[in-house]
Amino acid sequence: MKEYDYIIIGSGFGGSVSALRLAEKGYKVLVIEKGRWYKSKDFPKSNWNLKKWLWFPKLKWHGIMKMSFFRHITIISGVGVGGGSLVYANTLPIPKKAFYKTGSWKSLADWENELKPHYQTALKMLGATKNPKLFDGDLALEKLSKEINREKDFDKTNVAVFFGEPDVKVADPYFNGKGPERVGCNFCGGCMTGCRNNSKNTLDKNYLFLAQQLGADILAENEVYDVIENKQKDGYTVYLKNSTSFFKKKMKIKAKGVVFSGGVLGTIKLLLKLKKSSLPHISNQLGMDIRTNNESLISVTNLDGKKDLSKGVAIGSILHTDKDSHLEICRYSSGSGFWKTTHLPYVSGKFPIINIFKITVSFLRNPLSLLKMYLVKDWAKSTATLLFMQTLDSKLKFKKNILGVFSSRIAEGKKPRAYIPRAAELAKKYAKIINGKATVFALEPLAGIPSTAHILGGAVMGENINEGVIDKNNLVFGYDNLLIIDGSMISSNPGVNPSLSITAIAERAISKIKNK
Ligand SMILES: Cc1cc2nc3c(=O)[nH]c(=O)nc-3n(C[C@H](O)[C@H](O)[C@H](O)COP(=O)(O)OP(=O)(O)OC[C@H]3O[C@@H](n4cnc5c(N)ncnc54)[C@H](O)[C@@H]3O)c2cc1C
Ligand code: SF4
Repeated sequence: MKEYDYIIIGSGFGGSVSALRLAEKGYKVLVIEKGRWYKSKDFPKSNWNLKKWLWFPKLKWHGIMKMSFFRHITIISGVGVGGGSLVYANTLPIPKKAFYKTGSWKSLADWENELKPHYQTALKMLGATKNPKLFDGDLALEKLSKEINREKDFDKTNVAVFFGEPDVKVADPYFNGKGPERVGCNFCGGCMTGCRNNSKNTLDKNYLFLAQQLGADILAENEVYDVIENKQKDGYTVYLKNSTSFFKKKMKIKAKGVVFSGGVLGTIKLLLKLKKSSLPHISNQLGMDIRTNNESLISVTNLDGKKDLSKGVAIGSILHTDKDSHLEICRYSSGSGFWKTTHLPYVSGKFPIINIFKITVSFLRNPLSLLKMYLVKDWAKSTATLLFMQTLDSKLKFKKNILGVFSSRIAEGKKPRAYIPRAAELAKKYAKIINGKATVFALEPLAGIPSTAHILGGAVMGENINEGVIDKNNLVFGYDNLLIIDGSMISSNPGVNPSLSITAIAERAISKIKNK
């Protein structure tokens, strides 16, 4: 049996930072990732190529995005070497002050000041750059900012993209020549189906690439299903099995320490199972404090074919619409129209039965304009998706139900909602600007279930085992040398896209570990 100092489960933001920084400290590191190892040209040309876009192993679809359906939330997340960075929209905002001063971690440290240098490192490592160009979708957002008297609150986004000369290959521009070659972004809008142009700074182009140079091993297409503490208490045995082939070849590997970095869906699901078997001393807080950014995703389709809303990076601009909320414009590249098959007209209301009535009425009243929207030649080219987010808190919890199924539950306080009046109001104004019609993912009006790309929490920080699953340095209460470093550690609502914060907190967590 092989032996490592640290095994890292999952290769997203938390896992990749852990891999590089632990390797730099002299530790022997193995990263285990259940998804595939994609090279630029392997990514699908459009999201109609479901086999390469979606992760659904039962159908032999080994793509980069997973959709998970729960009673109270629909979640999209990334899979593959690089985790969510493969499919994400590259946007890296720093949260507002409330993030550091609320939630279960608020009294554990002066987070805003402690994290400042780590945010700077994270921005540098991910190659964050101000998006240099605005296109039709962003210009319409700028117009909206003027309409609501918030012109000063409109800005280009900070994104993890290499903007050299479009389509021109250059030697590593980020790490003094130690990183991989990069190609200038051509603003094709395809970041969320995987960048085929080698311009997006995914984690396999920075943290993981450098970790490998220092000897870290990366094992793709293997899923960890058990972690057992050794009898001598000198470490753990990690059990894994192949995740992509029909025959699930199994293996076990020893490590002195384990970092759980499977993202909320990977880490919390695995740990809820292990709490009932191999790791029973984990805090009862496991699965609590699940948060989203209180998002609302509304697609607006231009009906006159005069706009090209697919050009630009996936999220090119941002508008702070009030002190608690902001709006970003998202896009897919021309030809990526799969989402229209899952969308229904956007109607304003909390109650599904009333929504169904309103949708039927809108079909009957104006069948032609609705048909026009579904039949536009290139849905991605004609559609901008408005991503609305709020810092206001709302919570759910994850549990294993009596049948052992991983499921969501309502927690105390507010739950995430599908219909947010402020988002509806802004979408209406945006639709007017681009002569468009709004649609949303069907489960929102039909079942009142909101969707999120930013699932967070479930293994939050606390003063002790009764208040959290991990301490302020990400160590799991009740065990030695077990850490949780991914979106599950996020202990309050950042109110903005979370990857930069996950990266910064991961940097801090590993900085607390001594050199070997
Ligand atoms: C379409 C989309 C767009 C997004 N856009 C943005 C954006 O613009 N900005 C932003 O900040 N965030 C964005 N996000 C969110 C961002 O991707 C996530 O917040 C982030 O990736 C979470 O990082 P993580 O470290 O928690 O783990 P992840 O990045 O989710 O990685 C976890 C990895 O662990 C693997 N894994 C899980 N369980 C196991 C197991 N048992 N064994 C082996 N491997 C396992 C998974 O396959 C996955 O690759 C977006 C997400 C999506 C889906
Ligand atoms: S816009 Fe196109 S080229 Fe630029 S990073 Fe995104 S996918 Fe790559």
